[in-house]
Amino acid sequence: MFQIAVLPGDGIGVEIVPQAIKALEAISEKYGHTFNFTQGLVGGAAYDVKGHPLPDETLQLCERSDAVLLGAIGGPKWDDLPVELRPEAGALLPLRKELALYANLRPCIVFPSLMHASTLKEEVLQGVDILVIRELTGGLYFGEKSREKTADGQKATDVLTYSTYEIERIARFAFDAARQRQRKLCSVDKANVLESSRLWRETVMDLAREYPDVEVTHMYVDNCSMQLIRNPRQFDVIVTENMFGDILTDEASMLTGSIGMLPSASIGGEVGLYEPAHGSAPDIAGQNKANPLATILSAALLLRYSLKLEKEAQTVEQAVQQVIDEGYRTPDLAEPGKKILGTNEMGDLVAQTILKH
Ligand code: NAD
Repeated sequence: MFQIAVLPGDGIGVEIVPQAIKALEAISEKYGHTFNFTQGLVGGAAYDVKGHPLPDETLQLCERSDAVLLGAIGGPKWDDLPVELRPEAGALLPLRKELALYANLRPCIVFPSLMHASTLKEEVLQGVDILVIRELTGGLYFGEKSREKTADGQKATDVLTYSTYEIERIARFAFDAARQRQRKLCSVDKANVLESSRLWRETVMDLAREYPDVEVTHMYVDNCSMQLIRNPRQFDVIVTENMFGDILTDEASMLTGSIGMLPSASIGGEVGLYEPAHGSAPDIAGQNKANPLATILSAALLLRYSLKLEKEAQTVEQAVQQVIDEGYRTPDLAEPGKKILGTNEMGDLVAQTILKH
């Protein structure tokens, strides 16, 4: 029996998470596993009921589970709260820190039948399979923040810090991941300008001596953002710091056709957290329009990394691939001649496909 904490959150989170649960229920029926799902409040939904975006009971629920499945949090309703009560700063960052989730994995795979959906040319996308590994508990997002009044207005400061320990930990993770793939690792930094990036690069170079079988390159983040569009096939594994990874993975998501296709796994501590790479999409929330596939693919990562159920993870991924190959799309991936489904209907179809597999 596996205990899974389910945190739908806000906006489209409450629509997409049930679709991933359907996929996991289909897996439990097919393979005879028992998943015990327990719902918790997080984000704006938690603030509205409990007065805090990450109530103690939600954190405790996550800590005693085998894995956490999260939707998305945030929205305009909570944008004017003090920063520590806002969903992202008050819940997402502390949740990552408390669960010690220092490694965020974002596999960016282009499904052949979705190539037309991307804004890029087919010949650029053919064969793209990138794993972006983003450091998740350090850097600018976790540094000290302050504001002070000045003679002509205000001054705001965000501190960017990385220690050798933090860099080595994520770099080692990335080298090990590269060893399981094409043995090519690209470390992304801004070492021409930032001191933290210079330490990043030195640390990665030192560690590279332990991995002579992995080909390491170093790239500035501005160049990387250009290369991802120019020739994404050159990348196998990318490792980078928190903010650069945040931005580069949104960019990389467009290689797959839609941000609604990019799953993520946050691991490193005892309990892994799985969520789509996108946010709560308030512009389409409540309309049965959101693409649930990134969340369903995140559930596949949950099966793989936290529950060590590789065959089951592949079954989910193959079912997603099959529905796409058969021409089913949510509106974000609409193309002439394709069958457009709502969020719920897409979730039903993936679950049925899993059972038939
Ligand atoms: P967003 O990712 O929510 O949306 C960006 C665009 O992508 C929107 O047009 C949206 O409709 C579209 N989109 C996103 N997911 C989609 C899906 N599954 N299917 C179809 N279209 C999809 O980013 P944003 O608009 O910058 O942020 C909205 C809110 O989400 C903010 O409050 C932000 O703080 C929050 N946010 C939360 C997380 C998280 O929970 N991990 C991450 C990013 C942003």
